[in-house]
Amino acid sequence: MKALRDLTCRAACLLLILGMPATFADDGPGAILNGLYDPGLGPAAAVQGVELSVGHLTIKLDNGSAAPILAGDKPLGLFFQGSGSYTYRSEEPMDQTAFAYMANKVSKFEPAKKGDALQVEDTFESLAIIGSIDLPELGTGGGDLGESFGEHRKYFDGVWWLPEHALVQQLADMPQSQVAYAEIRGATEEVTYLYDGSRDKVERFCNHEKARYQGGRGLLFEQTLSEQPVGRNRLDFVDPAFLLTHVDLDFTASKKEDAQMTVVETIIPRGMARSVFRFDFTRALADAEGDTRQYNIRSITDGQGNELAFDHRRGELLVLAASPVPANAELKLTFEVDGNFLIRPGGDSFWLLRGDGLLPSPQVLAGEYWTLDTRASVEKPWVPIAMGDTIERTEGETHNTVVSKMSRPSQLPILLGGRYYIHEESFDDMTIRVASYGQRNKRAFQSLSQLAHKVIGFYEQFLGDFPYDEFNIIEIHDTGAWGQAPPATMFITSEAFNPLTNQEAARGVNERFAHEIAHQYWGHVVKMGSWDEQWITESFAEYTAAMAIRQLKGDQGYSKMVGEWKRQAGLVKDAGAIPVAMRLADASVDGNLARFNLLYNKGPYVLYALHQEIGDDKFAAFMRNYQKGMEWQFGNTPSMVGLLKALTGKDYQPFFDKYVYGTALPDAPDPSGGKKKKKKKKKRG
Ligand SMILES: [Zn+2]
Repeated sequence: MKALRDLTCRAACLLLILGMPATFADDGPGAILNGLYDPGLGPAAAVQGVELSVGHLTIKLDNGSAAPILAGDKPLGLFFQGSGSYTYRSEEPMDQTAFAYMANKVSKFEPAKKGDALQVEDTFESLAIIGSIDLPELGTGGGDLGESFGEHRKYFDGVWWLPEHALVQQLADMPQSQVAYAEIRGATEEVTYLYDGSRDKVERFCNHEKARYQGGRGLLFEQTLSEQPVGRNRLDFVDPAFLLTHVDLDFTASKKEDAQMTVVETIIPRGMARSVFRFDFTRALADAEGDTRQYNIRSITDGQGNELAFDHRRGELLVLAASPVPANAELKLTFEVDGNFLIRPGGDSFWLLRGDGLLPSPQVLAGEYWTLDTRASVEKPWVPIAMGDTIERTEGETHNTVVSKMSRPSQLPILLGGRYYIHEESFDDMTIRVASYGQRNKRAFQSLSQLAHKVIGFYEQFLGDFPYDEFNIIEIHDTGAWGQAPPATMFITSEAFNPLTNQEAARGVNERFAHEIAHQYWGHVVKMGSWDEQWITESFAEYTAAMAIRQLKGDQGYSKMVGEWKRQAGLVKDAGAIPVAMRLADASVDGNLARFNLLYNKGPYVLYALHQEIGDDKFAAFMRNYQKGMEWQFGNTPSMVGLLKALTGKDYQPFFDKYVYGTALPDAPDPSGGKKKKKKKKKRG
């Protein structure tokens, strides 16, 4: 039951800092970007009592020296050395609970309530603030700040963050909005702060943690302490800068670690003409031995054959169009990529590429809305497994090839190659394919395709037609009883294929199956447009799975799940509200626990409470109507209140305020306990 996020997570655990000189012209956005990576300083001035503010960050330069930061000859910021102080305020209630929780778990800060805000204050000895901000007039007499600026940059260059791309995009395409960022060497802790009033409409206050992972030696990772929406409500849908609408992937892998691919992406700018396009795309990975594996972008060209300038570093890719592309016009980008990025976990006979480890991906979920044509070849005897309907499989002299087509708008791509054996089972209404790892597993071929078909049959009555004609069930050679759910596909670990070798884990296999299949509805038919809406995929999939379990195994299995949700949800009462769950995954003290419990336990329990309150018929209508109304769209929690009002005549805003946006846990009656007793009494009587 790992999160869908894992599919796009930029595998922070494995990434290394590897920059690469950008290939930019001497003027324009590329030149500014180069200037930001290698900034200069203007003449320094003595400063006293200067105040600056951006978003909810207020800075006081009490006493010291300051100099303009120059990107090329363009002043784009200010460096200060001396004694200063700052205040950061959080004003959004949903953020405040998470802020308090995170600060307590992973920082030395102790945020304090000030009026309606929750704030931290600190002093600092050096600060850089950069972006589209009004800079104070500076005089002279500040001495030479070169050395202290170097010291300052040395620390922050070791922090895994890349605010420069956001700033360059704003300056080039959205001049009326604001992006600014600050790096502060505070007395309590060093912090990074980003104000993005441009694309993402969010501001973020972070401290840093030494990489816990082998591949991240010496790196500092940001931990988000506070994150507030800018000029919007948290769950307002934010239009992406562009939509990725179609991908043509031509992929060839050798048996070992090398691959070569041509990716043609069709993208459509939203809202305004755009010349800067930002993607997530893995740059380098470390394998289990700590060796670096590379993704090399050999070229990026547009539909007219122009070779485009780009900057690829820290898992992010910025591409400059040859000229601004009008809103709603199409831009075709062809990426030529090769590298030794096929990693076989533990030396096993497979590799798995996913998310931005496979394709240059829009950095926001709302930008992913693509169909996909794949042609993938791997050296024999391995076979490739790609997303969507299989058009053909062929065996050449040296390679096995699959051609496949995903014709529904999708997010979270995958491609897999390995020693797989594929069995295809045709039912009246669909094809289910089971791929076992390492051996032809006839028992699993039979039992898993039938189990999946049974679960799908139940969901069709409950939620509407299954969205795909073909469904792939793929064994992942790992243990730990986890699964994942890309479009029309589910991965599940080996326990499901070999239940006798691990009976304990195999017992939960029906639940996991039901959960992963439910993601085809909650996750793919109804999508999440931002991580704040992740409960629409995880909590709804989990509750839907419990309905299937009730169908398959009776009330007892269902009651057990409800009881477990309630118990576990009680453990995270102070952590935050459901929409901020994703942030809590960073809490190194208790790992993923807070996020996990909010999305997989509290969320489904809230749905259970709603179900209890409105009854079977109306709850079923709620689930089905929401599916229908949001079919192939991005789900949005606030819109559920309107649907519930239409179905029940009651205003459920207070319910959502309390249990979804707030931290309260509903107090719903136990599922079947009461009913059962009554039945027994009747019999006896
Ligand atoms: Zn899930």
